[in-house]
Amino acid sequence: MHRSEITVDLGAIRRNARTLLRVLEGSQLWAVVKANAYGHGAVDVAGALVDEGAGALCVATVAEALELRAEFSLVRILVMGPTASSREVAEARAAKLELAVWDEEIPEGLRVHLKLDTGMGRWGLSELPNLPAEVVGLMTHLATADSDPAFAEQQVARFRETTDPYSDLMRHAANSAAALRIPSSRFDASRCGVALYGLSPFGEDPAADGLEPALSWRSYLAQVKLLEPGESAGYGRRFVAERPTWIGIVPVGYADGFRRDLTGTEVRVAGEPRRSVGTVSMDAFAVELDHEEPVGAPVTILGAGILAEEHARVAGTINYELVCGINADPRRARRVVVDA
Ligand SMILES: *Cc1c(COP(=O)(O)O)cnc(C)c1O
Repeated sequence: MHRSEITVDLGAIRRNARTLLRVLEGSQLWAVVKANAYGHGAVDVAGALVDEGAGALCVATVAEALELRAEFSLVRILVMGPTASSREVAEARAAKLELAVWDEEIPEGLRVHLKLDTGMGRWGLSELPNLPAEVVGLMTHLATADSDPAFAEQQVARFRETTDPYSDLMRHAANSAAALRIPSSRFDASRCGVALYGLSPFGEDPAADGLEPALSWRSYLAQVKLLEPGESAGYGRRFVAERPTWIGIVPVGYADGFRRDLTGTEVRVAGEPRRSVGTVSMDAFAVELDHEEPVGAPVTILGAGILAEEHARVAGTINYELVCGINADPRRARRVVVDA
């Protein structure tokens, strides 16, 4: 067993894509694979999703798009974030990328999606300018699809009203949460990210929406020791044994993406639920055992029922941030891709 083994199951991603395609009822599935596909591996994930019928790949930066263009010469690729320089626009043009734009000035010679701010309060124009031929799409982004559907519906209504005269253009507004729960938001395409990875946009059990987590993360017990009462494990002595206590040391820490605020979260040791205890260090964390376990016993940090949503709740963050932070650097981790 490697100290930090990350397995990405493309089969799960394919099944999630099929689940979304059924839900979308004709709206195209545009696969959001920014940030290295939320830590899952952009090229592998994009390949599976193009196979399953994704109509486009969406990323945040031109550099992310160029990596995909090198692998997928014909697929539609949309850069959703800002383009910083005329050099980047030239690269985008040469690679036949499409750009989200919210400036009065629309770059020439490539396909553009104008972004409207209907309530997100971030990127976007507040009204539509004259539309040159470069504009092939109109888009907006919802601020509360996961938390306040009524406000999201207002944004959708505003978007529909502004864009109805241009219904021949490709219109898109939904993210995963909206695609799943707000039918009126689906328009011609839905930009789904997190749900494709089998993660819940609502922070709930993804099974509630028929989604299956694609990433599992495993390690092992590298040391097992018995603490006597009064002995502690880890920096700052945050965990002190009150009675003789078996402790296992897992060689994964915050540099690997097991964040410092995950103290107390549940992992599995040899299939049994166990809690992390004490301060998480850069390269290791401790788990409390209820009996002696052999060195080498497998530890499941994610997968097999251990949900990113649950770790995120303990850490006071969201599943998105957690998976984006898993470090797949080959000097620290082994990444395995399966298609089961
Ligand atoms: C990241 C992003 C999405 C995808 O959101 P999910 O919640 O992961 O589905 C959609 N649209 C835009 C503009 C984004 O930045």
